[in-house]
Amino acid sequence: MAENKVIIITGGASGIGREAAYLLAEAGNAIVVADFNEEGAKETASNIEAQGGKAATFKVDVSKAEEVEAMVDFAVDTFGTLNGIFNNAGIGLVKPLLEMDPASYHKVIDVDQHSVYYGIYYGAKKMVELGAKGTIVNTASIYGSMAAKGSFNYNAAKAAVVMMSRSGALELAEHGIRVVGVAPGFIDTPILGEDEEMKKALSALHMHNKLIQPEKVASVVKFLFSEEAAAINGSTVAVDDGFLSFK
Ligand code: NAD
Repeated sequence: MAENKVIIITGGASGIGREAAYLLAEAGNAIVVADFNEEGAKETASNIEAQGGKAATFKVDVSKAEEVEAMVDFAVDTFGTLNGIFNNAGIGLVKPLLEMDPASYHKVIDVDQHSVYYGIYYGAKKMVELGAKGTIVNTASIYGSMAAKGSFNYNAAKAAVVMMSRSGALELAEHGIRVVGVAPGFIDTPILGEDEEMKKALSALHMHNKLIQPEKVASVVKFLFSEEAAAINGSTVAVDDGFLSFK
């Protein structure tokens, strides 16, 4: 139960990040709920505190290196150390390739890909400086290993996240830091928007014909941060209800 780790969760104001914050706090960890949605982050943190857990919030735009560095410093200033970072904040932007102008491409690459580099870089550097062992978990996607129409930028970003988890693990193992990824199928969170017809179509891509609830991803993330997952290193675990396994 009492894990007593300090873990930063980006995208902690909503969806997968929020549910992961709840489960990791319940397991006895102090959580920095980081997001650019300040109000949502505060709501996550106050729900944690209402359950007797420890949480603080930090407003961050994960696509900005200096803000991610400041987020890492904030975690250490607030809770005294750093044992983990869940690089999870992300966006989608569906557009056909022939309309994928540089601005649309970079928007997703900056938020979904470069943010993960910043989180690994500043997070691991701080852990090494402190002599703190820990775990870095990165949110990839099923679209990090398969192509989808309209997702050229998202495909590229999430494939990079899969490889950064491997490459990061390779370099950081000697410092006692594990780096792993999680690849969700379609999860019932605000990122999917409001189009019920589209959600119905996406549901059918899973073995149980429904969207996956964010708690199901969060419970895998909680496991990946735990000592029980000590032998999972560099890999990206699919939480996709069979999405990648059937057709
Ligand atoms: P969500 O929209 O519920 O949560 C995403 C959070 O990230 C939001 O709180 C948002 O404010 C935050 N965020 C976005 N851009 C940010 C930025 N630049 N700086 C700081 N915070 C920012 O969506 P979710 O489904 O929980 O998404 C979490 C992760 O899961 C994302 O990386 C997403 O790509 C990935 N994912 C989601 C699905 C899905 O179907 N929901 C599938 C595969 C992968």
